[in-house]
Amino acid sequence: MSILIKNGRIITDEKDFQSDIYIEDEKISDIGVGLSLGAEHIIDAKGLYIIPGGVDVHTHMEAPVGGTISSDDFETGTRAAAFGGTTSIIDFATQSHGQKIRETLDIWWKKAEKAVVDYGFHMIVTDMPEADLKDMDEIVREGVTSFKLFMAYPGVLMTDDATIFRVMQQAGKNGSFVCMHAENGGAIDVLVKQAVAGGKKDPVYHALTRPDTAEAEAVYRSIALARMADAPLYIVHVSTYDALEHIAEARDRGLPVYGETCPHYLLLSIDDLKRPDFEGAKYVLTPPLREKRHQEKLWQGLQRNNLQLVSTDHCPFCFQEQKTIGREDFTKIPNGGPGVEDRLHLTYHHGVNEGRISLHRWVELVSTAPAKMFGLYPRKGAIAVGSDADIVLWDPSKEHTISAQSHHMNVDYSMYEGFSVRGGAETVISRGEVIVDKGKWLGEKGRGKYLKRDQYTGRV
Ligand SMILES: [Zn+2]
Repeated sequence: MSILIKNGRIITDEKDFQSDIYIEDEKISDIGVGLSLGAEHIIDAKGLYIIPGGVDVHTHMEAPVGGTISSDDFETGTRAAAFGGTTSIIDFATQSHGQKIRETLDIWWKKAEKAVVDYGFHMIVTDMPEADLKDMDEIVREGVTSFKLFMAYPGVLMTDDATIFRVMQQAGKNGSFVCMHAENGGAIDVLVKQAVAGGKKDPVYHALTRPDTAEAEAVYRSIALARMADAPLYIVHVSTYDALEHIAEARDRGLPVYGETCPHYLLLSIDDLKRPDFEGAKYVLTPPLREKRHQEKLWQGLQRNNLQLVSTDHCPFCFQEQKTIGREDFTKIPNGGPGVEDRLHLTYHHGVNEGRISLHRWVELVSTAPAKMFGLYPRKGAIAVGSDADIVLWDPSKEHTISAQSHHMNVDYSMYEGFSVRGGAETVISRGEVIVDKGKWLGEKGRGKYLKRDQYTGRV
């Protein structure tokens, strides 16, 4: 199959130029003005931007959480991602207690077989005795080059400082790194128990029992541990200014510390958790939504590269059937929210259209930086000869109102219901195949491929 994209304006993290693109099979094979190569399929991209496909490095498809399972599986979730212009995801395989991480990886490979865009994995480690550390090296060789640890959720996912330190040391040696969920789980647990004992069971208490300082302390501690272990560190879903300051300070010292944030921390707040009739439950995710004052600070973090990228932490649960499990008690509400489809247009509209970031920085945040950070560049995240032909034709003038009525995620609500955005994916190409064309789905179940990722090189 060959495709010629004509008359497009190519926008990368660094360049902006008018050119044609020739795609042969799965790769970009030529870029140049006035290409006259014969192609089976010609696309006229006049008036559109040509950007590298989005890379979302934080999703939870079909993930077991709090006695239920996130409502998007690898098929519906990756299809929704594609509609939103994301052509690669990195999901989380979760080690069960006592399980070997190699077995965990096999389970997730199986689950992901139905994916429609390419996918890689991080490994969530819940147990890592000294004797098993070599298992980490094995899965690094299989392309799982990042490990996620939790400093929250005691008794479920939380690991102690010794385990964290051990895993960081091993990661530092084997070319991988740790992605940290940084919240002080012990203190939070006490606050949660006190709230429940005091009859404070509404959704807003999810946020009120997880204070800003719980995140900041854990970010600081994890940076200190990584420093002692002489290992790189990546903080997932940074939600507060306080946490960001610790990351900025570490980076000022030249430490290999990185961070991501998510659209919901940039655009939503604790006020959403106060919505009446249990609607606040739609916004129960972790770390919680914060006071509005953090939003502009997080944008600044992205502007100054103290935060390197935007991911979604997509972890949807249906409001009617799943969120309501916690109607009488916020601690039972499954933690997570949908977003994999909305990342590009939300950051484009509120970032580029509203003058917070440049077009180049936007491409960098949603595609190039995640690909570099997680060992996929220049295969992904680039418009270059030899790169995978993962390309989005982006219509900067397309107006769209976000709604659960029209989105493709398998969930009955949107956290951004009624948000109007300008700019959206018109045509989406994944490894040389048009999978979305003007709102129409053309992809096939199971066409996504496993992404064996490179080792950490510190290139962001
Ligand atoms: Zn997550």
